[in-house]
Amino acid sequence: MAPLLQIRGLRKEFRIRRAGRDVSVKAVDGVDLEVFPGDTLGLVGESGSGKTTLARCALRLLEPTAGSILFNGVDLLSLNPSALRRKRREFQIIFQDAAASLDPRMTLRETLLEPFEVQGVATLPERESRVRELLEAVSLDPALLDRLPGSLSGGQQQRVAIARALALKPRLLIADEPVSALDASVQAQILNLLLKLQNRFGLTLILISHSLTVIHYLSTTVAVMYLGRIVEEGPTGQFFTYPRHPYSQLLLQSMPVLDPAARREKPPSIGGEIPTPAAPPAGCHFHPRCPRVMSECRKTYPDLVSWGQDTKVACFLYTSDSGGS
Ligand code: SF4
Repeated sequence: MAPLLQIRGLRKEFRIRRAGRDVSVKAVDGVDLEVFPGDTLGLVGESGSGKTTLARCALRLLEPTAGSILFNGVDLLSLNPSALRRKRREFQIIFQDAAASLDPRMTLRETLLEPFEVQGVATLPERESRVRELLEAVSLDPALLDRLPGSLSGGQQQRVAIARALALKPRLLIADEPVSALDASVQAQILNLLLKLQNRFGLTLILISHSLTVIHYLSTTVAVMYLGRIVEEGPTGQFFTYPRHPYSQLLLQSMPVLDPAARREKPPSIGGEIPTPAAPPAGCHFHPRCPRVMSECRKTYPDLVSWGQDTKVACFLYTSDSGGS
């Protein structure tokens, strides 16, 4: 099966002023990724790892510095602005802060009609009928149609954002920390809604989260990012049973345990803070925090290599002559 989204060598650099000098920050540094139709890719990593920048570049909401992005075989970077605007029907993004992503002056009805107006598709009765379908799909009461976002709860606002993203029947939906601003009980409702919508509409999802609990619940594949690079990628089941990269292992150890009987006193945390991407450590960027650091780790960055059947890992503990394939 051909990937729906294929990213090769994606880089995004920003210029910033630091200590009186112009420096280049590699927010995304040579990422290769493939997302297959119907799958959910869970992109995980600490804040500052480059997840959101990668997602925005993948949809050309940010212009990458280098690399290629094929969406359903079409090179997104070759599209002119009007062709890109038409293509945007097929991929959408929802954000953590649903309130900020909704226009506070537009009613729910106006918000849901807007994508049709921007793209100039469907007659007015067709648009009205589609709005009713969207409300039903995200379980929102039609009585809310004339309300403004400010009068809705956080969960309702995220449902509106999801409905608007689905208006034009996209094939790919990126959900960027879709539940981290919500109460725990509402989080579960929104995650279940995403799962239901994925099955109903055959969506392909990229789920960005710092929470492994969320990633575990929804994803079919997991990619771990650290300072702009993918350090491990593989099927969810395999990742959660046998994480390879030391960073992945520490992330999993610091994951909250939901079963009260198995709950530890206090989950261990990953030592230290993620370094600034403006001055990443030499060699393997994870080496200052890595419990298994070796001398070569301080000099050279390990390539992302295949290990076992489906996993890729960037760590000198895993080389093709020590058991991988
Ligand atoms: Fe740790 Fe070295 Fe592997 Fe980096 S390459 S994760 S420092 S063992």
